Amino acid sequence: MRQLADGVWQLSGFPPNAINIYLVEDVLVDAGTRHAGRRILRQLRGRDVAAHALTHAHPDHQGASSQMCEVLSIPFWVPEREAPAAENPALIAEAQPDHPLSRLALRHWAGPGRSVDRVLREGDEVAGFKVLDVPGHSPGHVAYWRESDRVLILGDVLNNLHVLTGIPGLHEPPWFFTANPAENRRSARKLLSLEPRLVLFGHGAPLRDMKKFVNFVKGLPE
Ligand SMILES: [Zn+2]
Repeated sequence: MRQLADGVWQLSGFPPNAINIYLVEDVLVDAGTRHAGRRILRQLRGRDVAAHALTHAHPDHQGASSQMCEVLSIPFWVPEREAPAAENPALIAEAQPDHPLSRLALRHWAGPGRSVDRVLREGDEVAGFKVLDVPGHSPGHVAYWRESDRVLILGDVLNNLHVLTGIPGLHEPPWFFTANPAENRRSARKLLSLEPRLVLFGHGAPLRDMKKFVNFVKGLPE
């Protein structure tokens, strides 16, 4: 894994940056698909991991969550309005458009549900980061924000690659994986006002070119 900021590491994966998992201090943020268990555990070897938190309970973020909590004996921290889906992944489909690709992701990537140990709400602290409500991509999606060095982990509010082609660049998440695109755009604009210096995505490479970020969000339709 590689260090991106003080106490923040991105786990390596293949293809690189396709499905991102972060270690923030001693908290594992997101857990990839249910096939990601081995790559996560290999990279966490020798590290002190105290908890596992989600940005949102989609199959490519909660897939290995149950396994990680089980194997590492750590609690499962989930945004409040994501908790029902994190405990019962069958509910994920209800909050997404019915589309062959969302059904495919659920069938091939989702991991088992797991009971939530701590519910996260706006303003809560996780490993020195503040929880921010940014719903839209999913009903209870959150971002993690550290003001001291302006690092923002924004999950899937935006993607920094095209999730189908893998080509780098900023995009809104695909409509067929997104509960409410208009609400998601409002969430993106809320994050813009933070003036981050480093933006970390669920999909795509870390972004330090803030002009790109600002111009993209400002160009989003209302
Ligand atoms: Zn995702």
